[in-house]
Amino acid sequence: MIGKRILVVEDNATSLKLMTYLLTANGYEVHIAQDVETAVESIHRHPPDLVLLDIQLPRVDGLELVRQLRADAVSRDLLVVAVTAYAMKGDQEKALAAGCNGYITKPIDTRALPAAIAALLERRSATTACLLERR
Ligand code: MN
Repeated sequence: MIGKRILVVEDNATSLKLMTYLLTANGYEVHIAQDVETAVESIHRHPPDLVLLDIQLPRVDGLELVRQLRADAVSRDLLVVAVTAYAMKGDQEKALAAGCNGYITKPIDTRALPAAIAALLERRSATTACLLERR
């Protein structure tokens, strides 16, 4: 969905570059953070429509960030997609249990990533439209 703002939280420079490129090429406004502290600041300063969140981050991990977001009324409903290592099967369940709306696995599939994000954003805007209609 063109113009939607996505915050990419990723500490690996190569992955960050790839995801930023893919999302920018698909018309998203991309903000980046390489750790949880910077991500929190960015979420407050430029509230995103969706957060693409690497789980393995230095100091504070992505699971802790999503728990914090869910505990705060302002960010409770924020769309969060976890990025987990394909080999780490348990991380996907942990990500969902912590409150992520979905997950994608590394290595990044350059077609599946934009498709998954577009699907979530569309589903969210459909839900919002539905709620508005009921008023
Ligand atoms: Mn990482």
